[in-house]
Amino acid sequence: MRQVYLDNNATTRVAPEVVEAMLPFFQDLWGNPSSMHGFGGRVARYVDEARGRLADLLHADPSEIVFTSCGTESDNMAVRGAAEAAGPAVRIITTRVEHVAVLSPCRHLKEHGHELTELNVDAEGRLDLDALREAVAGGPAVVSIMWANNETGVVFPLSEIAGIVKAAGGVLHADAVQAVGKLPIDVSRVPVDMLSISGHKLHAPKGIGALYVRRGTKLKPFLLGGHQENGRRGGTENVPYIVGLGRAAELAAHTIDTEMPRVAGLRDRLEEGLLKTCPDTRVNGDRRHRLPNTTNISFQYVEGEAILYHLSDAGIAASSGSACTSGSLEPSHVIRAMGVPFTAAHGSTRFSLSRYTDEADIAYVLEQTPPIIERLRALSPFV
Ligand code: PLP
Repeated sequence: MRQVYLDNNATTRVAPEVVEAMLPFFQDLWGNPSSMHGFGGRVARYVDEARGRLADLLHADPSEIVFTSCGTESDNMAVRGAAEAAGPAVRIITTRVEHVAVLSPCRHLKEHGHELTELNVDAEGRLDLDALREAVAGGPAVVSIMWANNETGVVFPLSEIAGIVKAAGGVLHADAVQAVGKLPIDVSRVPVDMLSISGHKLHAPKGIGALYVRRGTKLKPFLLGGHQENGRRGGTENVPYIVGLGRAAELAAHTIDTEMPRVAGLRDRLEEGLLKTCPDTRVNGDRRHRLPNTTNISFQYVEGEAILYHLSDAGIAASSGSACTSGSLEPSHVIRAMGVPFTAAHGSTRFSLSRYTDEADIAYVLEQTPPIIERLRALSPFV
């Protein structure tokens, strides 16, 4: 049976070039980059090279890159570290549709006395910029707003957001975990102070991430320990994975201009095909401002989990907008924040492509999905 992987916002396959780049660091080049001797020195220069490659992808300076263990750590480091550096009076501003890696530390800070504002989105997942203007006018703030949403792919206007936050004297962190490698990101033009990256979303392995920290940003370290990463993150560097992330960043920089328009074309074909062949189907999120690889589709009157189960039986991997907690199928906080009607929210399904997706994959999904939806609708109590 054909296997089609359309769950790339959950994780991506590790690129073969990345595996190849990492292997020597498990075999011959196993020194500690902080050591003074040759074993360390030989390895340290590859860490520097990887830092440079990631910095190039973002148009940053290598000294502004801090390697972490994942996107979640980067988000925690940014939000908690900036709040700690700013002091107890600082307010925290975020959105209702952030990943939990941002929402949880923001809510943790609220429990510890900080005022927290969670901004709303409209029915298409767009942020209310007037509400942001009003929120930042209230005094010094740490603001965390994602570059692109993991569930809907909706892209927030970070240039405009940065203009608003910086004009009010705030500190701005952008969770760009889903955007890096899919959208061109240039921190020399967009004045974010911090930006989170996760390796496994751009064809590097799980367990490596980074935080871009603009020079001069006030940030307390999150992992206290040794002097690694210029004193900004303790812990001996995960050299093979850092090298892997560097290679993945280099590959992304080389392929983004050609591959992402191709991926967007495949995504559009998938989306249009499903809307045409499956009645009572809608796209969730602003279709004009979206990641090139993502579509979130609601098949009304059917459960997302049931769709995923049957797709998986046909060899197709996708993801649902529902979180199965304590036996009840709740639509995700993102879908709920957008006010998607009940009958559509439960059937929301995310298809996320990558540069490894091809036309035959899309043709297969277009052939397999409509009969699955038809069968499930025939059983649905809501139709
Ligand atoms: N932020 C966003 C937008 C994400 O999609 C994810 C992962 O799905 C994360 C943060 C967390 O990244 P990691 O899995 O590397 O901890």
